[in-house]
Amino acid sequence: MQEKTTTFGVIGAGQMGAGIAQVAAASGMNVILHDISSNFVERGLATIAKNLQRSVDKGKLAEEAKQAIIRRITPSTDIVDMGSADFVVEAASENEEIKFKIFAQLDEICPSHTILSSNTSSIPIGRIASRAKRPDKVIGLHFMNPVPVMKLVEVIRALPTSEETFQITVALAEQMGKTPAVAADFPGFIANRILLPMINEAIFCLYQSVGDCDAIDTVMKLGMNHPMGPLALADLIGLDTCLAILNTLHQGLGDPKYRPCPLLRQYVEAGWLGRKTGRGFYSY
Ligand code: NAD
Repeated sequence: MQEKTTTFGVIGAGQMGAGIAQVAAASGMNVILHDISSNFVERGLATIAKNLQRSVDKGKLAEEAKQAIIRRITPSTDIVDMGSADFVVEAASENEEIKFKIFAQLDEICPSHTILSSNTSSIPIGRIASRAKRPDKVIGLHFMNPVPVMKLVEVIRALPTSEETFQITVALAEQMGKTPAVAADFPGFIANRILLPMINEAIFCLYQSVGDCDAIDTVMKLGMNHPMGPLALADLIGLDTCLAILNTLHQGLGDPKYRPCPLLRQYVEAGWLGRKTGRGFYSY
């Protein structure tokens, strides 16, 4: 078996990539945080610094520990930097073509022992693995949002994923303080196969005026004891990401019950993507 992972690459410095980088660095690994432009990497680093400062202010983290975590994260805008990574998590936008291209590049750049994982919310890992010449070292590692807070990580084995890759990945998830749940490689895996139809149904309720945003979210919070209502959760996930996941479920499983609500499409087309753009079902 490979030695303990020391260098951890993260592709995409958005809300998930930044969270993954933070947790990996906090668990003692050296992290390379990559995005297509320095603005995006800077934004990710600023989010990490803000999150850590909050922990310092609450007395949960020492100032020196915060500085050490930040020092372990190296920013990157050149994917060639992944040449020193032992384990990579791809957390770029939920778009097949973007992910396929990244995996083909990583395959060329990374040493032969490097495991290439994807944080995709829904795209079958086997489809991504087929783009790499090391399909046995490709695996799904699906963190939940916000990564520093949520304990769960889904680990998805594609048909070609080797037992060694699986074991290393589970050990790494545990090192990061997460609890792994194993899912088979079908669109949406477990979490989003269950969550997204609920969110979509909440959007249909809004679309058909069954209730307004407040009523729908209040019913699910106070009636079902959910910590967040489904529309507020959709805004947190990102409405573009929700639509991409529903499209993958709809196409991949071929069942009309997964068809995305037209209102969701309309919001995404208008650029109302939720919290990240300041406007979704709610205004931020
Ligand atoms: P996001 O839009 O916040 O961030 C995506 C980042 O990827 C952006 O900064 C973008 O510049 C970058 N990117 C795009 N193309 C790239 C490329 N070729 N190389 C490097 N970086 C590139 O999205 P997010 O919410 O962080 O989602 C990222 C991934 O995580 C998606 O696959 C998504 O499905 C998955 N995911 C999201 C959530 C969620 O709640 N948002 C939860 C679990 C998993």
